[in-house]
Amino acid sequence: MHTAEHILGGTMVRMFGCGRAVTTHLEKKKSKADFDFRNIGRNLTPEETDDLTRIVNDQIGRHQAVTARMVPYAAAAQEFDLSRLPETAAAGPDAMLRIVCVGDYDRCPCIGEHVSNTSEIGRLRIVSTDYDEQTGILRIRFKLDR
Ligand SMILES: [Zn+2]
Repeated sequence: MHTAEHILGGTMVRMFGCGRAVTTHLEKKKSKADFDFRNIGRNLTPEETDDLTRIVNDQIGRHQAVTARMVPYAAAAQEFDLSRLPETAAAGPDAMLRIVCVGDYDRCPCIGEHVSNTSEIGRLRIVSTDYDEQTGILRIRFKLDR
């Protein structure tokens, strides 16, 4: 689920120019990810949901290695939005950050646990999406089918 969420987040950034998920609730059976969608201001269309699902599953189906490496904080700060990390992450001139890569498709800072290859993920199924006008949050609920 967690690795699938990386691919989902990376795909959302590519498709809509939004940020990665602002909050996620990942569970074994069903998960949800919330995206700041104020710039788009609406729910996904069925076509967009289909495209999103297809792209994520294409990437999963490429059986990509999932790897992690440490990079200097300053270098990471140039590539990633680190504003949501705790300040302690930047402590000291030698601070390093763990970057998780899904093949050549997605990279982001993360300290979580991941599968070692996308072949272990299964297939993504988006259960529903909805957009909250008040908060500007797009919520995507998804499952993984084996
Ligand atoms: Zn992660």
